[in-house]
Amino acid sequence: MSKIKVLVTGGAGFIGGNFVKYMVDKYPDYEIYNLDELTYAGDLLKHQDIEPRCNYHFIKADITDRETIQPLFEKEKFDYVIHFAAESHVDRSISEPEIFIRTNVLGTQVLLDAAKAIDVTKFVHVSTDEVYGELDFDPSTFFTEETPLQPNSPYSASKASSDFLVRAYHETYGLPINITRCSNNYGPYHFPEKLIPLTISRVLNDEKVPIYGDGKNIRDWLHVVDHCSAIDLVLHKGPSGEIYNVGGHNEQTNLEVVKKIIKTLEKSEDLIEFVTDRLGHDKRYAIDPSKLEELGWKPKYNFETGITQTVQWYLDNKEWWEQIISGEYRDYFDKQYLLN
Ligand code: NAD
Repeated sequence: MSKIKVLVTGGAGFIGGNFVKYMVDKYPDYEIYNLDELTYAGDLLKHQDIEPRCNYHFIKADITDRETIQPLFEKEKFDYVIHFAAESHVDRSISEPEIFIRTNVLGTQVLLDAAKAIDVTKFVHVSTDEVYGELDFDPSTFFTEETPLQPNSPYSASKASSDFLVRAYHETYGLPINITRCSNNYGPYHFPEKLIPLTISRVLNDEKVPIYGDGKNIRDWLHVVDHCSAIDLVLHKGPSGEIYNVGGHNEQTNLEVVKKIIKTLEKSEDLIEFVTDRLGHDKRYAIDPSKLEELGWKPKYNFETGITQTVQWYLDNKEWWEQIISGEYRDYFDKQYLLN
């Protein structure tokens, strides 16, 4: 019997990279294909440990390149597509929205056409809670799958657009799909432009940590491995057409997160510097994951142990993130945060 072929797009990035590792280990009988363009956010160093594995394959390609994607699907006849590849950083979407529309919207449509042409068994689109917009600070309110989409940033607008396309390919052509909408992830291999790895890497170097506005914006954090297990479950058990919110009820203000990391590293809170707020900064995200829990999902990590392990991971893997925070990233950082 031929092996099940799984195409993971964006498998050189943070969450896709963790998902590739998770799948290669958990399903030795599946062939796992990682398709990635290797933008600034992707690297293959993170896969040095799995590269020798015979069920892992890498394909360098751009998801917006129809002339490459279509024949590739026809040749490989993938069974499952798990679509992570995206431009993912809200701040970059505010300064350069165009690439977000190209990659996140057009790229998704190219993949949907290719998946439709070979009748894939399932197309899982990895989306975000940010498509719902923002909540106020009333702790009894949550995003459910029925919450209307009201994206506020160019990033979330591009993700919402791709969600609608995925839904439309299901409704119009009967493509078997699921959409997952997860809260903020943290864990190993998180690119240091995002809050948690940015804070860890700056604090370790005794550098100022920028916090937008008053630091009271709330995010709902989930360990990346718990996100991977959610996608695995939805892929195998989620009825086609269903959307699932993914989150572990772990709301923290940005300031609380930064203070926790500083405390874990036994450094001073004097490193914190409040900077001009992000444009259109969403106040609060909070996920109601009951639909996914009914499918049988339960997160493994609590935030306290998860964050301590993540800080330890950054201490143990300095080589990986130190090469990222030099060069192009340094220019980006200096332009983004005008620190004293
Ligand atoms: P990331 O920025 O770390 O990784 C994105 C990957 O996509 C990179 O490896 C990059 O090289 C690749 N890529 C970008 N453009 C491409 C193109 N045109 N063709 C092929 N590959 C391309 O992102 P992430 O944080 O791992 O997020 C992955 C997915 O999960 C995204 O779709 C994002 O919207 C979603 N998501 C992220 C979070 C989060 O907290 N980071 C939460 C919920 C959902």
